Amino acid sequence: MAITQTAISYYGLNYVEHAAADFQEMKEHGCTAVILAVTEFDFDFWRPNIPRIVAKAHELGLKVLLDPWGIGKYFGGEQVSKYLQNNIENRQVSALTGEKLPYACFNTNSFRDYFQNFCLTLAREAGADGFFWDEPHYAYPKSYASITGGVSDEWTCRCPVCQKLFANYYGYEMPRTMTDDVKQFRWREALYILTETSRQIKQIDPKQEITCCVHATLNSYYVTEHRGYDNWDMVAACPYFDVFSTTIISWDLPEPFFEHITRRTVEIARKHGKISERWLMGYYKQPADLAQIDRIVDLYVSLGVDRLSAWTYRGGYGTVLAAPDALALWDRIGQNYRRVCKK
Ligand SMILES: [Zn+2]
Repeated sequence: MAITQTAISYYGLNYVEHAAADFQEMKEHGCTAVILAVTEFDFDFWRPNIPRIVAKAHELGLKVLLDPWGIGKYFGGEQVSKYLQNNIENRQVSALTGEKLPYACFNTNSFRDYFQNFCLTLAREAGADGFFWDEPHYAYPKSYASITGGVSDEWTCRCPVCQKLFANYYGYEMPRTMTDDVKQFRWREALYILTETSRQIKQIDPKQEITCCVHATLNSYYVTEHRGYDNWDMVAACPYFDVFSTTIISWDLPEPFFEHITRRTVEIARKHGKISERWLMGYYKQPADLAQIDRIVDLYVSLGVDRLSAWTYRGGYGTVLAAPDALALWDRIGQNYRRVCKK
């Protein structure tokens, strides 16, 4: 067993020569790939430099994946959304209160078109190696003993479009409670936008690689998040995804939790003939003892994980989400990358 890719995410999509210096530092930290977090603003404003930055990363020997970071607040991420700024409709709607929420509804044709135009334009222009689907999700719930939220009966989306799609398919009005039909509907519709966009990206360039990264939740008999991508079997079965990835786990959680998530990630990836990927938390918080990073990396390797990724470059240094010792955290992740990546 060997790790075949070590990736780091990166926000700085402005000047090519500045990115070049950062890419060099990534190489020194054992990274073989960079995940470029492309914001909606970057896409509209810095677009001429995106292909140049990708070309520079290639020149320095890094593989490049594009992450439509936080797009419509449908993907994970702190960035603001131009889609939400420019559209007062096509938002996710609370099932219990009927309120419009600051999250795009990805089951509407409006957002599906927006998302596809973003990705397909980059597939044609940017010259990257693939795309990274970053924690796609319905706004609610992230409950049911989630690591990031409390228990709730609230859920999304019950917007007019979702209600119509539901009624057309099942022949009755969409319920306000999370029934089995609602769960199935949410899983099916959530996959549509990513499946269809991935299919079209590969039509433009069959070599484009798609990673789908979903929340690392237990999804056991008792505990699940119901964010729309928690049926891992359904997600990993998508024929256009190449890599099945599960996201960051807080360093505060017990090590058996890391083991459980990782075991299931590898098992489901293998079952569907996909490459497996696990994440390291490289921002915001760090383990009390940095040696925990070494142990978790060893655990990932021993369980047969194919790829490692970390969020983010320099431990988030200089941002509100910097780890307390951001640069030391970045260095420790780099040491581990150099230690285990056999490529
Ligand atoms: Zn909706």
